[in-house]
Amino acid sequence: MPSQHSFTLNTIGIIHSCYKEKFGIPRQPGLVTEATARLELIPPYNRLDTLDGLDGFSHIWIQFIFHGCINESWKAKIRPPRLGGKAKMGVFATRATHRPNPIGLSAVKIGRIYQEGQRIFIDLYGADLLDGTPVLDIKPYLPYADSISNAKGGFAPAAAEAQKRPVVFSEEAKAQCERYENLHNKKITTLIKQIIEQDPRPSYLSTQIDREHGIQLWDLNIKWCARNDHFEVLRIEHE
Ligand code: SAM
Repeated sequence: MPSQHSFTLNTIGIIHSCYKEKFGIPRQPGLVTEATARLELIPPYNRLDTLDGLDGFSHIWIQFIFHGCINESWKAKIRPPRLGGKAKMGVFATRATHRPNPIGLSAVKIGRIYQEGQRIFIDLYGADLLDGTPVLDIKPYLPYADSISNAKGGFAPAAAEAQKRPVVFSEEAKAQCERYENLHNKKITTLIKQIIEQDPRPSYLSTQIDREHGIQLWDLNIKWCARNDHFEVLRIEHE
């Protein structure tokens, strides 16, 4: 018997992204502009006619499932990273992943829309999405309705610029990035810098100095640590 309170939704697409694990993904879209991803429409929605007219828009809303934490329970109160893990806010006052319905919402810049065989892709720029993310829906971003110039931003009024610190590369990491950029057409130095300068560490690790962290991008593991007044990229390991 269908219920007004329970629905079955179908995945219409899958995200292919440089982010192979949650750690390192920016907290909102548009913060790491060098991040590239593709949204692939899956059957029976892999039809170019579903996208007719979308080429006139620069951005889309993506509604997706936080599949990387689907088995974890939701919490009524959340410690937003923005508040340094010190204060708790109601889950519906945050963009946290642990929600009663694990649905995410990101406004993302789009590029080429194209077909490869039976596969339909939309290029995405600056997405905050884990590789393999199931997409429930896409809608065009409407500037006249979706951009509200006098909106209030609560405890997150702007991007967390103040937490940014310079990112320096060791000689080894610099040479590895240069080699990678010469082989592949990817600006990996800028990508790594944009990710690490956001300080992706959870609040409980944010005072730790010299502790090594790893961020998985494609098949690369970026090893880095926090120093007193900057972040240092130590080396890049191939998985
Ligand atoms: N912009 C979206 C929103 O507001 O609903 C996501 C915001 S959420 C704070 C951003 C975090 O979601 C990222 O830092 C990443 O760790 C996590 N994330 C992204 N894709 C995910 C996925 N498919 N499953 C679980 N976590 C994911």
